[in-house]
Amino acid sequence: MNTKHLIKFVQQIYKSRDFIPLHSPSFLKADEDRVLETIRSTYVSSVGRYVGKFEDALCSLTSSKGAVATVNGTAALHASMHVRGISNNDYVITQALSFVATCNAILYTGAKPIFVDVSKKTLGMCPIALEEFLKLHADVVDGRCIYKKDKRTIKAVIPMHTFGHPVEIDKIAKICSEWKIDLIEDAAESLGSTFKGKHLGTFGLLGITSFNGNKIITSGAGGMIFCSSEDLKKELKHVTTTSKVEHKYRFKHDRLGYNYRMPNINAALGYSQLDRLDFYLSKKRELANRYANFFEDTDINFFREPKNARSNYWLNTIICNDIRERDSILNTTNDNGVMTRPAWDQMNKLPYLEDNISESLINTSYLIERIVNLPSNPTFDNFEDIKT
Ligand SMILES: *Cc1c(COP(=O)(O)O)cnc(C)c1O
Repeated sequence: MNTKHLIKFVQQIYKSRDFIPLHSPSFLKADEDRVLETIRSTYVSSVGRYVGKFEDALCSLTSSKGAVATVNGTAALHASMHVRGISNNDYVITQALSFVATCNAILYTGAKPIFVDVSKKTLGMCPIALEEFLKLHADVVDGRCIYKKDKRTIKAVIPMHTFGHPVEIDKIAKICSEWKIDLIEDAAESLGSTFKGKHLGTFGLLGITSFNGNKIITSGAGGMIFCSSEDLKKELKHVTTTSKVEHKYRFKHDRLGYNYRMPNINAALGYSQLDRLDFYLSKKRELANRYANFFEDTDINFFREPKNARSNYWLNTIICNDIRERDSILNTTNDNGVMTRPAWDQMNKLPYLEDNISESLINTSYLIERIVNLPSNPTFDNFEDIKT
């Protein structure tokens, strides 16, 4: 492929010869107004009307049973595992192709990650690899999934919907329920994506998303936990609010809690941005189609949404033919002001994660050597004209 053509193509889309970022947030006057309102009201922290409004809006968007807003997506993952009693001596199965937050949150609980391979069809956890691992190494004893070698419990499976593309979440959910393991979805990158019409983050016991500045919509920093029951929602709200028991004036805390509640000032921004989610989704789909057309005439594979899935196309992705081609594209684009990025380093190769259990990660290594993310801002034309 001729990288110069790609650079020209991206510059045409963005009508710019200046630096083109991979993904950056965009703000309108409406966002400023909402944030200013919280400042003028003085309710900038954990009390204020926007936290509840943002939670309710996310709940109705995703048809979740309950949503709890948090300070960020990592905290949302940590709190989710905490309320499920995941701690030292437990295992959590995840994928090695992910942002480091997934693994870090597992380590915060004291548990250890186990890595299974991803699928080339979805870029996320492969249900066949998951099931094979369990059949080889695990047993269900007294309603718990036990890792045979050391009899520790495998408490949860955390698949991640890479770059917004849904994994085969129905199959993974079925395996989890057969093997008595909690399913917690890392849908940090995939707000707005659906699988068979159902929103990601709502297939398991719990699911999380993120509103960091680089995600499809942002609250500055922020996260949300999607809960499959009212009880879980109550428990998570409690634990993320330092487990403070409601009282007129006393400070009483009935269990270990965290200061993980999303501040009102962030919720106001997130709530305002949510108005544009549909607009961003349609623009991102249009952009993905343009990229797909461009790469059709090359020998490079542009990654399309998997079967049964509707992706938010958070980060557009190509799969190069080999690592040399990948590095050449990365170098030439970045040298010419078009920002592109490789996948994250493979998690089980990071120094503090390399001692963990992993099965054959053939697809993981294959993809990590070949993935390049392309500029994916949805604001490529007439953005200023949109009305919110
Ligand atoms: C962004 C992200 C998170 C959460 O990140 P925060 O910055 O803590 O909101 C978690 N997992 C993945 C895969 C992510 O991309």
